[in-house]
Amino acid sequence: MELLFKSTRGTQTVTASEAILKGLADDGGLFVPVSIPKLDVPAAELAKMSYRQVAYEVMKLFLTDFTEAELKHCIDSAYDSKFDTELIAPLVEAQGAYFLELFHGATIAFKDMALSILPHLLTTAAKKNDVKNEIVILTATSGDTGKAALAGFAGVKGTRIVVFYPKNGVSPIQEKQMVTQKGDNTKVVGIHGNFDDAQTGVKKMFADKELAAEMDKKGFQFSSANSINIGRLVPQIVYYVYAYTRLLGDGKVSDGESINVVVPTGNFGNILAAFYAKQMGLPIAKLICASNENKVLFDFLSTGIYDRNREFMLTSSPSMDILISSNLERLIYYIAGADSNKNVELMSQLSKSGKYEITEEMSHKLSDFYGNYASEEDTSATIKKIYEDTGYVIDTHTAVAANVYGKYISDTDDKTKTVIASTASPYKFTRSVMVSIDNKYDSMGDFELVDELNKISKVDVPDAINEIRTAAVLHDTVCDVEEMPQVVRDFLN
Ligand SMILES: *Cc1c(COP(=O)(O)O)cnc(C)c1O
Repeated sequence: MELLFKSTRGTQTVTASEAILKGLADDGGLFVPVSIPKLDVPAAELAKMSYRQVAYEVMKLFLTDFTEAELKHCIDSAYDSKFDTELIAPLVEAQGAYFLELFHGATIAFKDMALSILPHLLTTAAKKNDVKNEIVILTATSGDTGKAALAGFAGVKGTRIVVFYPKNGVSPIQEKQMVTQKGDNTKVVGIHGNFDDAQTGVKKMFADKELAAEMDKKGFQFSSANSINIGRLVPQIVYYVYAYTRLLGDGKVSDGESINVVVPTGNFGNILAAFYAKQMGLPIAKLICASNENKVLFDFLSTGIYDRNREFMLTSSPSMDILISSNLERLIYYIAGADSNKNVELMSQLSKSGKYEITEEMSHKLSDFYGNYASEEDTSATIKKIYEDTGYVIDTHTAVAANVYGKYISDTDDKTKTVIASTASPYKFTRSVMVSIDNKYDSMGDFELVDELNKISKVDVPDAINEIRTAAVLHDTVCDVEEMPQVVRDFLN
């Protein structure tokens, strides 16, 4: 049966391939599946399958207008030797939890899980829909999406990609990874502003009908690699199903036994994928939403009020430095009973006053979620403690999650087995990680720290880091938010 996708802000419905091509609905809403399909293969069967096989069993239920051959081709092209382990997403047991390592792809952050497949889904979707234009991916990044999207789209025929990042809001290694990107079809731009400014600028270009007409004349059309694209979300559901079925296969849980999931959250994409996995029938009890000092989601989950009017903090977990969590709109739509009018009302309050409040009835539907946050000190202390107790070194984002998990346990004493989404390699945030472990590292250079991390963690330095030691800077454009459309025009001319 064909599954259609509907805008959270209106009545537009499209096929999966159209939703992936468009990114955002015409009315500015996000595409959501009209209904969430149920897993149709028993967990015990999935437990015997490889990552790629599990990916097929999950994604086929959402992307129903892709043929089996098309979808398998996309999956095989994505989850191959770009990952440094056959397992694709291994589980590591430490400190009483299972860390689901989602950083074994080309750019060593979890964004690779979806962005290594998105270019294939998108070019397949373009073929299916007879798109003649070249597709121009516009992406705002808080650091990790940018590089993962660049790596995914570089050299892909029929596509170009422009990435905007906050000039002073990403880690040195994140910036170096992006500005050294090769490929004639790539463009990397720093903006004067923070991630929310970059994201708002990109959304404006998507909504600009005149710009779209101008682009169409020149043979281009925009699409998005941000997690507003449903083609990002669906592949993220896979690893929750995979993680659960690995635990089952290894005898760590019994069939049907519930687990909790902890997710370090920014744009709300990753945790929304876990929510979808739960709706599909995966036995997930609590969805634990971990924030850094930009704790807008913690406040929302505890008060029912979403309020972005606050100081934007730059933290050691920059990929979560976000005050407007775009994907929350999909959850709001869902808890509003799939009522797009109600959702539109709240979203327009958000854009007018930066704030909205949900009803009591909607709040009740959030009872599966638990929210908390980690301060900068909490995050550092967690990295140090887990390293000293177990020898396992985690990155700053994962540490936010591990810390919040600790808070959850002291609040609830819940003994449910728990998976923590481990979203980046510690090598991506080496300075913050090493200084958390010992202040003496503060005086060392970035690559010296890489070698020190290698010594203490005994984990091989990933290729992604070795590559940038000597790579030349190929991108140096910096602009104001207002200039973003012009930068795009210049690049396409
Ligand atoms: C993007 C990112 C996050 C936040 O994920 P969302 O899907 O935006 O909530 C967390 N950690 C890392 C390392 C990331 O790159």
